[in-house]
Amino acid sequence: MASKAIQPNFRDTMTTSTKEGGRKWLYPELVKGKWFFRRAWVAYFLLTTLLLGPFLEWKGHPIFLFDILNRTFIVFGIGFGPQDSNLFALGIITFAVFIFAFTNSFGRLWCGWACPQTIFMEWVFRPIERLIEGNSAARKKLDETNLTNEKILKKGLKFLFFGLISFGIANVFLAYIIGKNELYKIITDSPKEHWGGLSILLIFTGVFFFVFSRLREIACILICPYGRLQGTLQDKNSLMVAYEFVRGEPRGHLKSGSEAKTGDCVDCNWCVKVCPTGIDIRNGNQMECIQCNACIDACDEVMTKIHKPIKLVGYYSENEIEKKIPFRLKTKGLAYFGLWAVLISVLGSLLLFRAPVETVVLRTPGNTGMANGPDKIANLYNYEVVNKTFKTQDVNFRVKGGKAKLIMVGKEALKLKSQQVQKGSFFIEMKGSEKSALTESLELEIITNGEVTDMVKTKFFYLPNQAQTSSIQ
Ligand code: SF4
Ligand code: SF4
Repeated sequence: MASKAIQPNFRDTMTTSTKEGGRKWLYPELVKGKWFFRRAWVAYFLLTTLLLGPFLEWKGHPIFLFDILNRTFIVFGIGFGPQDSNLFALGIITFAVFIFAFTNSFGRLWCGWACPQTIFMEWVFRPIERLIEGNSAARKKLDETNLTNEKILKKGLKFLFFGLISFGIANVFLAYIIGKNELYKIITDSPKEHWGGLSILLIFTGVFFFVFSRLREIACILICPYGRLQGTLQDKNSLMVAYEFVRGEPRGHLKSGSEAKTGDCVDCNWCVKVCPTGIDIRNGNQMECIQCNACIDACDEVMTKIHKPIKLVGYYSENEIEKKIPFRLKTKGLAYFGLWAVLISVLGSLLLFRAPVETVVLRTPGNTGMANGPDKIANLYNYEVVNKTFKTQDVNFRVKGGKAKLIMVGKEALKLKSQQVQKGSFFIEMKGSEKSALTESLELEIITNGEVTDMVKTKFFYLPNQAQTSSIQ
């Protein structure tokens, strides 16, 4: 969506680069309007949740853990392991569809309101920078001056705080991956015992420091894949931060006594000066816009001062501005949300009815059955049982319908501790002649704490020519 007074060459250069291709440093102004305070509430709530996430526990276990090395994941206190790869895959698809649905209807709200990059940048690092170096003009002036004692002091103090906060974030980030107890060991034990962990901590610190002190908006404009997808996900019905050019154009400065008719935009550039990605929203929807709402607050401030209605810049769809069609969810958006609702229902049901133990049973490779006396045939099976919960589980196996006898090798019943995996073997013995081939489909009941919680299908198989004889106890 482009305004009528679009700058014809605005696509020729990036707002963050000079004509020579160097970095153009941005000094966004601070504007405090209603959207600023709304976002502040959301940002500090999310920030608190994010920082506390790995340290909160539920019944002795972390609420969140993403231990990639040990392939253990905990989300809202529920443990997941490699055996839950189907749930993981479905979860990713559900999340992707949600992103498509949400972005198609509501644009890039995630970026401005919930993305950790934006939240840390705009609500932690930028305020510290402002506190130490001053407002936009003061920061620019400081950068342009030669090295003075004041500059060394201010820059040094800023980078010290940035470094400390980056170190803090790196600790939290690592706690999400290895858990708070392991992190505590890295911090308190001798460094010699945790060279690996300490190195990762320092690498994370360096990455965060670089991202928030130098990379900044480049991460959103050039690196973030979600940002690059905007053009394909949004359409004329998507709600986004937009300039109502029909009302604003032709733009022009207010001149007392002037008869010239202008639109409501007074061309004050205040919306551009507050933009953290340096764009002019009046040029239309742009990939660089992270929907932070600063330009809405800025323009509302101007409109209030000149006694014009607010929302010259606001949340609009392109069709709302051009054709006066009020925003509502359209067929594509509804289809996306419908698909997402189906997926989330399936995912929810799978989670709700998830068996406490996962069992894999396979007939032992190469085993073609064995005669156990003249009228009994046996097959050997291997099993693997995973306790997916944090509680101890008593597990037994039984052949459904009593069609055959199951004889455990080694132990009669299994007792699995929290998240434990146990492997072993059992025989299934059926009535049958040692001289006749036999094939039978069987269903095994997995009994957890006295209740049937799962069913496994398997084949019973006997070939007399290749059969071995055995004595099963
Ligand atoms: S154009 Fe407006 S909403 Fe978009 S990033 Fe700039 S200030 Fe934020
Ligand atoms: S803040 Fe409003 S009036 Fe000023 S340039 Fe931007 S759109 Fe125009």
